Amino acid sequence: VEQTFLMVKPDGVQRGLIGEIVSRFEQKGFKLINAKLIQVPRELAESHYAELSDKPFFGELVDFITSSPVFGMIWEGENVITTARAMMGATNPSAAAPGTIRNDFAISVGMNIIHGSDSPENAKREIDLWFGGETLS
Ligand code: ATP
Ligand code: MG
Repeated sequence: VEQTFLMVKPDGVQRGLIGEIVSRFEQKGFKLINAKLIQVPRELAESHYAELSDKPFFGELVDFITSSPVFGMIWEGENVITTARAMMGATNPSAAAPGTIRNDFAISVGMNIIHGSDSPENAKREIDLWFGGETLS
């Protein structure tokens, strides 16, 4: 069965949206496999977003993810990677469809509430990175 890594970002945690977000994935029918509230070490944030290290916003992105706790989760179910991304909506909330998490709860691309793995390869990589070992920090 497919698994994905989802993360409520600092803005979502601070705004009290963990329960709402967990509830949406539970109600959809996915299974919660693991979860933790964590203050992200800088090196973990940089590894997580390594594919974006050349982007002009990379520094701000790492600053933001490390600014206050995030809620990391592993979810399981049929097509969970693609379906979770659809439930999240477009990266920029102004382009996200009504009813998606980012449309319902966010305004700006920098603070868009939630992360979800974008491919099977990245799901495996991120699950290992966030939950796989004791050498994360
Ligand atoms: P995520 O990886 O967080 O699930 P995503 O896969 O939809 O989001 P990515 O291209 O992987 O989008 O970008 C990662 C994150 O970087 C985005 O969620 C957003 O918060 C931030 N980001 C992306 N593009 C921009 C931008 N142009 N300006 C500022 N921040 C951006
Ligand atoms: Mg991404």
